Amino acid sequence: MSAPVTPRLRFAPSPTGPLHIGGARTAIYNWAAARALGGRFLLRIEDTDQARSTKASLENILESFRWLGLDWDEGPEHGGDFGPYFQSERLDIYARYGARLLASGHAYECFCTSEEVEAGREALKAAGRSPMYDRRCRDLSDAQREELRGSGRVASLRFRMPLDEDLTVHDLGKGQVVVNLREVDDWVMVRAGGMPLYNFACVVDDLEMGITHVVRGEEHFVNGVKQLVMFRALGQPAPQYAHIPLILGKDGKKLSKRDASTAVLDYRDHGYSADAVFNYIALLGWSFSGDQDLFTRDEMVARFAIPDIGKSGAKFDEEKLQWMAGEYVRRAAIDDLVAWTKPFVLAAGAVPESAYASHPDLLRNLVRCNQERIRLFPELPPKLGYYFTDPEPDDAARKNLAKFPDAPQWLAAYAELLGDSAIPPSYPKDRGDADRVAVLPTDRNASLPDRSAVPFLLPAHLEEDARALADRLGIKFGNLVHPLRAALTGTDKGPGLFDIVYLLGRERCLARLSASSR
Ligand code: GLU
Repeated sequence: MSAPVTPRLRFAPSPTGPLHIGGARTAIYNWAAARALGGRFLLRIEDTDQARSTKASLENILESFRWLGLDWDEGPEHGGDFGPYFQSERLDIYARYGARLLASGHAYECFCTSEEVEAGREALKAAGRSPMYDRRCRDLSDAQREELRGSGRVASLRFRMPLDEDLTVHDLGKGQVVVNLREVDDWVMVRAGGMPLYNFACVVDDLEMGITHVVRGEEHFVNGVKQLVMFRALGQPAPQYAHIPLILGKDGKKLSKRDASTAVLDYRDHGYSADAVFNYIALLGWSFSGDQDLFTRDEMVARFAIPDIGKSGAKFDEEKLQWMAGEYVRRAAIDDLVAWTKPFVLAAGAVPESAYASHPDLLRNLVRCNQERIRLFPELPPKLGYYFTDPEPDDAARKNLAKFPDAPQWLAAYAELLGDSAIPPSYPKDRGDADRVAVLPTDRNASLPDRSAVPFLLPAHLEEDARALADRLGIKFGNLVHPLRAALTGTDKGPGLFDIVYLLGRERCLARLSASSR
């Protein structure tokens, strides 16, 4: 009995640009299938085109993987038993296979110039046939080859495709497809000059690296046919291929820069949660369940199977991605959210950097207060301005302050109430214990603790007291709340008002109330 085959899947990018949404989706599906099957996930860098391959693109791809939370078992930075994982370091292996296929007659030398190839295509077209290589070097005699070589021509290597065969392809994505091989070119394996090309190098590597399954975009379907025939020529089983539909833009055409940013790291730079981007891309052609859109990587792996990938093109909808980003913000642990938003908060200069180290609880509170109000991280800093700087009231706030002539007295009464209450001190204060920032309660469903049991009144206590004050003043609660918010924040929208009172603390609240009640 032969040993069971370990599932091995790979993502094989060409480092000729940043990782795009489509590439990331391919990577996610191969990764999830490898994890679901208990197999290995490889990263193979297809960099035979040295002129177009760059180190920056490679870095971008690896960084996109790290950001999306895709780990790889073999490949750059990890090594493995099937390396090297850069095609540019495998040229001797391709040379060996090229010689073998030439010897077996599955490959032949082609001496045509590109002009001759083009002229042949045009002639076929003019004769009403599919334009392709006219196979003029397919059956050269030894003497003809020697003569061409003698005239200074350098041969490329072409694969000899069967001329009379209908191949039945069993594709995990497209189902069963019959392909007439006469319609498939005798494709170039190695350019004149020695550079191995994609289909050839890909088969050699998939074979040598023991790849069992390949998920990739349907634009590779015809390549898959060429690759299947080459596997057969080598007497080896091919991986199971799944060619999956393209990602579409709003207009139903292939997703492009016109529709949205296509580079994965743009979403990082625009302040999307990485978990949301992973989740959203995974859904472009696969569904978790009929009624649940949000899932973790582990949940995806527990359910993922290649045949479940959809058969029709999924549309990329940036609105939905933004919605999802907001959902992930709401579900995030506060400390994660503090860390993720930090670069945006610092870039906007909304909080002094030292506060992150000296007053972590202040940062937690600022983030906690706004957790329900943001979707993308850059939305946070503009919401923090009033915390550190006394606000200039905007038009809406001015209106709320001017609406009732008695508002200044109400605010003065509220200041008096606060002055007697146990509310947290404001940051920054003198060093010492009083400098500690009181932490906002995070569990909104917890029952309200007794006042005597907490060092500071909680927002819910503060609200109780403000309601009682409104009763004493004989006014509606709202008539107190609107000018109060205007005085404390300079605007008419934002986090819960008593969260703000708690967060601003004694000194800031009293100073702002006194400025507005004059
Ligand atoms: N380097 C190819 C690409 O980036 C890989 C295709 C494949 O997965 O075979 O499209």
